[in-house]
Amino acid sequence: MKKDIHPKVNTHAVVKCACGNTFTTISTLDEIKVEICSLCHPFFTGTQKFVDIEGRIDKFEKKRQKAEAIKEKAKFVKAAKKKKKSTSETPAKSVKDILKSYTNEKEDPKENK
Ligand SMILES: [Zn+2]
Repeated sequence: MKKDIHPKVNTHAVVKCACGNTFTTISTLDEIKVEICSLCHPFFTGTQKFVDIEGRIDKFEKKRQKAEAIKEKAKFVKAAKKKKKSTSETPAKSVKDILKSYTNEKEDPKENK
């Protein structure tokens, strides 16, 4: 080993978890702060837990609700449009129908004679 280039190893470094658990380990640091440990990790506890950093879950939930509202609004607008279309839609005569009625009118008097 080269001299004076390796950090000092602390054999009793204290690890402090956000849940309150503490234990010692070997590290170059004196104290380590962690957000999750084996006592509070869902893998070991078997319960669901969210480690929310900087309110990211709340942010995501807000975004999701906004998207949901927009989706709902779009659905409503679409339904209203459909309704409007169906009510305003009159049985429009096609060119074929118009021609048919015209020829019928012309032919009818001839048949009567
Ligand atoms: Zn913990």
